[in-house]
Amino acid sequence: MEEADLVVLGAGPGGYAAAFYAADRGLNVTLVDQEPRLGGVCLLRGCIPSKALLHVSRVIHESLGLKSWGIHFDNPRIDLQNLRSQKEKVITTLTGGLAQLAKKRNVRVIRAKGKLAGAGMLELFPADSQPLDSDRLRYRHLILAAGSRAVRLKVLEPAGDLVMTSRDALDLPEIPDSLLVVGGGYIGLELGTVYATLGSRVTVVEMTEGLLPGVDRDLVRPLEVRLRKLFAAIHLETKVVGVERVNGQVKVFLQGKDGERTEVFSRILVAVGRRPNSDLLGAETVGLRLTPQEFVEVNEFLETSVPGIWAIGDIAGQPMLAHKATHQGKHAVENVLGEKAPFEPRAIPAVVFTEPEIAWAGLTEAAARAEGREIETAVFPWGASGRAQAVGATDGFTKWIIDRASGRVLGCGIVGLGAGDLIGEACLAIEMGAHIADVAGTIHPHPTLCETLGMAAEVYLGLATDIYRPKQGSTTPR
Ligand code: NAD
Repeated sequence: MEEADLVVLGAGPGGYAAAFYAADRGLNVTLVDQEPRLGGVCLLRGCIPSKALLHVSRVIHESLGLKSWGIHFDNPRIDLQNLRSQKEKVITTLTGGLAQLAKKRNVRVIRAKGKLAGAGMLELFPADSQPLDSDRLRYRHLILAAGSRAVRLKVLEPAGDLVMTSRDALDLPEIPDSLLVVGGGYIGLELGTVYATLGSRVTVVEMTEGLLPGVDRDLVRPLEVRLRKLFAAIHLETKVVGVERVNGQVKVFLQGKDGERTEVFSRILVAVGRRPNSDLLGAETVGLRLTPQEFVEVNEFLETSVPGIWAIGDIAGQPMLAHKATHQGKHAVENVLGEKAPFEPRAIPAVVFTEPEIAWAGLTEAAARAEGREIETAVFPWGASGRAQAVGATDGFTKWIIDRASGRVLGCGIVGLGAGDLIGEACLAIEMGAHIADVAGTIHPHPTLCETLGMAAEVYLGLATDIYRPKQGSTTPR
């Protein structure tokens, strides 16, 4: 039986980064994944295909928006087969690149389902009809990077295959006349945007009192205004309490604050969160401890309760974001090498890739206030930005969350065109413990949307000249 220095279970953005970096650091590495291609949910049926489709919907949205400039396009004709294959091309290019990178590094890739089977041993199960060379794999160190899957709702079961998860929805089986999106979080709003732009009548039901729970309300507002125009309806504080299949469609019973209502939809997209794949690992065979939310329990070094086993990414806790997994993967490898690398970031950015985008990093204003922190906020409305005016993005704004006593930036929130790209600067500032004056004193290029980060900092210091927010007697640290 073969033995690897390091086995990585799961080849998503956490797992492949860990495997490749470990190989670069001289370890003998085996990467195990049940999929025929590397990249995990993010690349094969998550972040990347959804961004390809969101790119298409943004272009449609922007071209139709040129009407007010006197430019008129016809409504788009959509060749679904072509759209699917173009999206597939993006995935194929990226996953093909990963296969080459694995080969160059001599990372052995085994296509199998892996399960813990006692100390230092993984049991392998064939992922397809191909028999495996061996059904056991011995490891000295193991990194669990086995990800998460969509939560399904029992109440929707009678609707059968009319219910899609994000995985099904990204395959674009059709453009349904009407689509009910259950869950007003990241996936519901991103894929709701795609389907609505492609022509579906989209209705969103969200259980809580607002879209994107956990995100600062002021950031959500401009998005909600646009989505209320794009979608047929958004029902807040509403749940699905029953479904029935009727003539190839689905009759849905909704329970909201104003009572019960019934509506018929062509399909349903369920997007009510994801759960870690910890239940599929055979955790009990090694005594691996899970948290009450069924994440694999890890300390700051990403060590699990079992010596020699590390866990990273979605399976190791919130936030379930690819970039967190990638960084954890590299930390875990350093810890395998005995280098004691705690994973303690100040800012893990989050982006909702809607139109407009919402992005935030570090502390949100709501979390800072809930923690009783002494904070100040500084906002720059994009209506005062020349670039935002030129590109019709005036409903955006940029907000810094600042520690009152020290003037250091604790968090940042941006809503508007390309917010997901703009937030990178805020991540760097927060991670480096920048003072708000460092941001204000940084010369940003004009005319850009990234200027709004500098201008919001200037608002805080009473230095802003593009809007009228003078601060009498302010002292400006330089
Ligand atoms: P989510 O947690 O973002 O949103 C789920 C929403 O469903 C919440 O608003 C919740 O209140 C609501 N909900 C829960 N049960 C409900 C019910 N019975 N009826 C109506 N509403 C209900 O989850 P998601 O959108 O499924 O995404 C899962 C995870 O995937 C996210 O947490 C995120 O980490 C990741 N993701 C990230 C991105 C991105 O980075 N842009 C995109 C997609 C997914």
